Amino acid sequence: MSDQPKSYGRKSISATFKPRELMDPNARLAGVWTAQIITLFPQAFPGVLGESLTGKALKDGKWQLHTTNLRDFGVTKHRNVDETPAGGGAGMVLRPDVLGNAIEHAMQGTRGNWPLVYLSPRGRRFDQSMARAWSKADGITMLCGRFEGVDQRVLDHYNIMEVSLGDFVLTGGEIAAQAMIDATVRLLPDVLGNEESIEEESHSNGLLEHPQYTRPAEWKGRAIPDVLMSGHHGNVEKWRREMSERLTRERRPDMWDAFEARNRNKD
Ligand code: SAH
Repeated sequence: MSDQPKSYGRKSISATFKPRELMDPNARLAGVWTAQIITLFPQAFPGVLGESLTGKALKDGKWQLHTTNLRDFGVTKHRNVDETPAGGGAGMVLRPDVLGNAIEHAMQGTRGNWPLVYLSPRGRRFDQSMARAWSKADGITMLCGRFEGVDQRVLDHYNIMEVSLGDFVLTGGEIAAQAMIDATVRLLPDVLGNEESIEEESHSNGLLEHPQYTRPAEWKGRAIPDVLMSGHHGNVEKWRREMSERLTRERRPDMWDAFEARNRNKD
């Protein structure tokens, strides 16, 4: 059995870490935002998070990722992690004893503000403000469910927050975890390298982003709007703002109402 969490990022490639530190489940880069994932499929990580900006930031030690393999905590010689649902019915449910041991193992050495969440279609819908709050925490522990989900007593006992990626059902929490970590990590200082792009993008100021264009100036008979080619910064800003407001009004009346209400309260 290897009950050591798997680590990604600088810790696993840095020559400055001694082997013993690499083996220590509690060894974490001090002060570095950390995602701790409890999953039956640790090989699914870092997955897409290992690519592009999040991947570079992971290698550079701007955040770190550990996985805890639920299978390592399975019971009997078959390392069972699930059982049939009490009361009958289809599918299997992840056992509370197995989950409890994995959670307690994964939470060792966590510090400060460190949410513990279960990815779940019954949870509160994940959004940009949650990503912002999590990026200000010291780290996060995410429990990925499989099958019919987890025994309710685990959620109650550890007071776990249920968070949903959206109103649909996935086969497991891993894709949801990666989506949420991506949205969170890109808000960490120095990860995107361009703070302005965060301020202006969809959902950060309560509006959807304006359309974007790039070269060539004409493509399949379609030209870039003149104002964007005018070089007049003020007009560009005004156009972008108008487009942003129009798109939000048309596509997301709920966001538009909230935006207007906030502006009214400011006056
Ligand atoms: N029987 C459950 C669904 C289980 S789906 C129900 O009806 O509520 C299996 C696992 O996939 C869940 O335990 C959860 O971890 C994950 N999952 C499924 N849909 C999800 C969603 N929309 N957001 C986050 N996680 C999800």
